[in-house]
Amino acid sequence: MFSLTVREIASAVGAQNATDKWADVEISAVGFDTRKLFSGSLFVPLIGDNDGHAFIEKAIENGAKAAFWSRPLDEAPTEIPVIQVEDTLKALQALASYYLKKIHPKVIGITGSNGKTTTKDMTEAVVSSAYRVHKTQGNFNNHIGLPMTILEMPEDTEVIILEMGMNHADEIRVLSDLAEPDIAIITMIGESHIEYLGSRAGIADAKMEIISGLKPDGVLIYPGEEPLLEERVHSLVKEQLKTFGTTEKNDLYPLTIDAQMTETTFTTNAEPDLSITLPVLGTYNVTNALAALSAGLVLGISIEQAAPKLSVFQLTKNRTEWLTGIHESMILNDAYNANPTAMKLVLTNFSALPNTGRKIVVLGDMLELGQQSRELHKSIEEVLSAESIDQVFLYGNEMHVLYAALLGKFAEGHLHYFTGDKEPMIHQLKQLIQPKDHILIKSSLGTDLLTVVQELKV
Ligand code: ATP
Ligand code: MG
Repeated sequence: MFSLTVREIASAVGAQNATDKWADVEISAVGFDTRKLFSGSLFVPLIGDNDGHAFIEKAIENGAKAAFWSRPLDEAPTEIPVIQVEDTLKALQALASYYLKKIHPKVIGITGSNGKTTTKDMTEAVVSSAYRVHKTQGNFNNHIGLPMTILEMPEDTEVIILEMGMNHADEIRVLSDLAEPDIAIITMIGESHIEYLGSRAGIADAKMEIISGLKPDGVLIYPGEEPLLEERVHSLVKEQLKTFGTTEKNDLYPLTIDAQMTETTFTTNAEPDLSITLPVLGTYNVTNALAALSAGLVLGISIEQAAPKLSVFQLTKNRTEWLTGIHESMILNDAYNANPTAMKLVLTNFSALPNTGRKIVVLGDMLELGQQSRELHKSIEEVLSAESIDQVFLYGNEMHVLYAALLGKFAEGHLHYFTGDKEPMIHQLKQLIQPKDHILIKSSLGTDLLTVVQELKV
């Protein structure tokens, strides 16, 4: 696995002190959390709400063999080598950049408003049919998670897949400059984080930062039906652009889609006779899969080769997962993440599912929508119809506008609104749920409908 000497690390980050005495000490991992440190690690004291330097003794006790240090040297421990740097986070990023260049895998960077983690997991499935792959674990996709993912990469990695997340402008640029992708994927442009980015155009600009570090012959894979991206790709030549989406306009698009409860089967224009089955619900996941397959094609992996892997790919937890609920019901848990685009898509897909029981939806506030929040919550009305959804439960302050908008559409006893304490809502749901009911639960993580999921699952 990982192995670097103190000499190499010190030189990679431009250490400000001499570490000669310790130069040959071998370091086998990197960590910033003393509770999760491996023996033989380099400890990186990050400065956030707490100053990691204060935990140096704990780090040594837990196996740290060296540490970055940005405080005065006379405060540093003497029993392990310390590598003095100006900024420990920047040093972590510089070390990741050095290690990435040393191992030299192909780099796939993935950003977008929704579907990053899903596309990352699917891309891993596709690429692992031909290469040894390392990828971001969970959702570890920010300025700390990305360098950590790189530093956790085994030395024999051939392709690394990095999720790149952001809340603000310029964050993706930093990640892309560090990772220098060979392949950059933008999954889609939605409305997440519009509070900080102002508009969908602002969001498109921020996602396009992923080409900042793109290798000179690198390829950008993006949804060709998104005009905001079409307008922004001109700095790249045609050979560097690959599109995916739902229509013929794209390099890769679906010919047929069969959407079932727990799986989705589709064919593509690239290999019309080949059916690909995804073990997940949602036609939007076909789009994610097309992005993953496009990355495979750039790396010379045929769709035929990738399909068996995609059919068993594992989705990271809490993303549209089916759980068994109380009273023999089924719960579709999507309470990890929500924004208007995703909520509409999931509702449309859920409404269209073949189903013998009733359909119930429990929708909670979507966060970080800024000034447009009310309008965006109200817009969910378009995709909620009393013909396909039997019971609607809305939770949270922002959802009140949607409640008001739906009053005429749903009969009394079919539309419920709650805010504050979740207990009354949980109680009512428990009384109402019958065998065969299918219950979709969706909100932003911060709204915490996961507690409702916990109460309703068996
Ligand atoms: P995060 O910002 O939390 O990292 P993410 O971009 O990694 O999110 P995923 O975790 O893959 O996104 O998916 C989160 C939710 O977004 C899914 O459960 C689904 O509801 C929705 N979603 C997934 N893919 C798409 C897509 N291509 N278009 C729109 N919505 C999607
Ligand atoms: Mg994610």
